[in-house]
Order: sequence, then C-alpha cells, then structure tokens
Amino acid sequence: MQTILTGVRANEEPTLGNFLGAYLPMINLAHEHAEDSQVNFFVPDLHSFTTPIDHKKLYDQVIKGVKYYIAAGLDVNHPNVHIYRQSHVPAHAELAWILDCFTPFGEASRMTQFKEKGSEHPDAVTVGLFNYPVLMAADILLYDAKYIPLGEDQFQHLELARNIAIRINNKFDDEIFTVPAPEAEQVKFMHLEKGLRIRSLVDPTKKMSKSSENERSKISLNDDPKHAAKKIMSATTDSEGVIRFDMINQPGISNLLQIESLLAHRELQDVISDWAGQTSYGDLKHKVADSVEHFLADFQEKVANISDEDVESILADGEKYANEVANAKLHKVQKYVGLRK
Ligand code: ATP
Ligand code: MG
Repeated sequence: MQTILTGVRANEEPTLGNFLGAYLPMINLAHEHAEDSQVNFFVPDLHSFTTPIDHKKLYDQVIKGVKYYIAAGLDVNHPNVHIYRQSHVPAHAELAWILDCFTPFGEASRMTQFKEKGSEHPDAVTVGLFNYPVLMAADILLYDAKYIPLGEDQFQHLELARNIAIRINNKFDDEIFTVPAPEAEQVKFMHLEKGLRIRSLVDPTKKMSKSSENERSKISLNDDPKHAAKKIMSATTDSEGVIRFDMINQPGISNLLQIESLLAHRELQDVISDWAGQTSYGDLKHKVADSVEHFLADFQEKVANISDEDVESILADGEKYANEVANAKLHKVQKYVGLRK
C-alpha cells in the first residue's frame, strides 16, 4: 500500500485561506485515497522552533492544530488515517542524524529558503533552520511516502529528500527507501492545477497570509464570527460598479465570489452567474459576510466540542502506529550503516 504524508506547522493561527487552500484539499485527498493508501497527517512540532517562538504556547497550539483537522472533517476513525506528532516518534530525529551524514554540505547550502531567511546574518539563524530540510527528508523516508502534498515553497526540499534516498539506495545497492514522486507527479496528484489563492481583504492583489500583521487583511479561524463579518463588509473592492469575476481588474470582488462558492459548496460558475451584472457590492458583501459568520460559528463550535483528551487519545493511537513503522525502517537503515547486525 502506498503512503501519502502531509505535515502541518502549528505556529500561528491559520486563516480562511489556509482552510480553503490547504486543509480542505488535503482532507479531500485523504477521503479520496484512504481505501488504497496509508494517509499520514503529522504535526512537525520539532520544526516549530527552527525560528524563535513562545515555547509556553507550543503544546497547546499542537493540540489545537489537531482539533482543526478533525473539525474540518478529517476521518480520524478510518483505520488507514493516522495523526501523530513528530516529537513523539524519536526515529525522526535519529534518522535525520544518519541522513545528515549522507548529505553534502554544499547541497544543503543551496536551499533557497535558508538563503533567503538569513544566511547573510549567520548568527541570527540557527543550525536547526539550516538542517530542517534533512529532518524533513527523514519525516518522509521513514514511512516510504510516495506522495507528499505540500506548498510550492517546499519543492526544493522534496528534491533534496529524493536525492538523499537515491544516494543511499545506490550506495548500499538496495531499495532501502521509496523515492518520493518527483514534483510534476506530486502536482498532478494534488490536483494543483486547480490550486487557489484566497486574497488579502485589504490588498486583493496579494494573497491572504497568516503572518500578515494587518488584522483586517485576513480572517483567522479563531476570529469572533461577527467581527469577521465586519472585515468582509469593509473588504477592498474597486470602482467598476458592476459585479464580474475578473481576478486582474476586479480582484476584490472576484475574491468574494470565490469565498462564497467555497463556503456555500457551490460551483464557482454558478455563483458567478447568480451575481453577474448586479451592481450592489453591498449586497454581495452582506451575502459573503453572512457565509463567513456562519462558517466560523459552526467550525468553532465543532472545535470546542473536541476535548483535549480526545485529541490525546487519537494521537496515542497514531503514535503507536507511527513508532512501529518508523522504528522498523530505522532498524533497517541502522543495519546497512553498520550500527546493528
Ligand atoms: P505565512 O504568511 O506564514 O507564509 P501562509 O498563510 O502563507 O503563512 P503557509 O504556512 O505558508 O501559510 O501555508 C500553509 C498552506 O496554506 C500551504 O499549503 C499554502 O499553499 C496554503 N495557503 C496559504 N495561504 C493561502 C491562501 N491565501 N489561499 C489558499 N491557500 C493558501
Ligand atoms: Mg506562506
């Protein structure tokens, strides 16, 4: 059985953009493949402090992140769906060390994300940040994962994981690791050609981002529903005066139509037809504000109904499974590198 694996960092409060653009598509993939694949959702909590964070909050954020997946509809009771924390499967860190020793420093140094985040100020970034793509390779290779739904910014790290797997397989002349599918195949698998970008409510030429400091630009999943509705009412639009779906000339209006279609579970084309030619931006905003308010109220109620104990028990099951699979792989690798007989 093939394995699909995806990890979700839980450092900041996710937005409606993350929900519609990442959570829902991943959960749909899980539904689509749970019968023919192992579906691993893991929380990369060791990755959480490659950059400074408030450590007092981390544990609760991890638990909340899991609740969000369950509330969004992930079928955690399916026998092939597993949720676990990276930190609770020690084989991740152990394999990362071994992989480190099979990763040329030059190759790791070419990772553009690290270069962008501050190789100019080497004392301001950690070795952890430099090394995290190798830990990510371990996250993937321990489970022989073939498909890893991830954002475009992660494709270079996926390529690194592939290179490490191929290098070790060649060195020991055996199929020790499954080599993850290359980028083009991943894109196809994720149906990424349909990929969508929810826009900022303040500047709709930009995407909505959870790290944005402008609260008005984004709907966070823990926003008060009424307050979120107000943000929609004051979203930036344009002065064309007629409702049309046109991401270039009317990105604000188009963004609202897009959000409405996703929250109402209706085809975008149908929503566009409903509003085509109408002139009251206020009416459209009211409709979308209402949908957002209802969505958040419902989602937050679902989250509130999941107890910490439920999450701990789901994680305990997932971590039992993950430790079994990961330890078996780690032992195999330890034999090849001469650590075990
Ligand atoms: P940051 O500002 O920290 O980069 P972000 O909101 O861009 O945060 P990421 O953690 O970078 O979120 O991405 C998490 C997932 O959410 C990725 O799969 C990404 O493609 C998706 N995503 C992020 N923003 C949007 C958006 N506005 N619309 C649709 N999908 C999005
Ligand atoms: Mg981002």
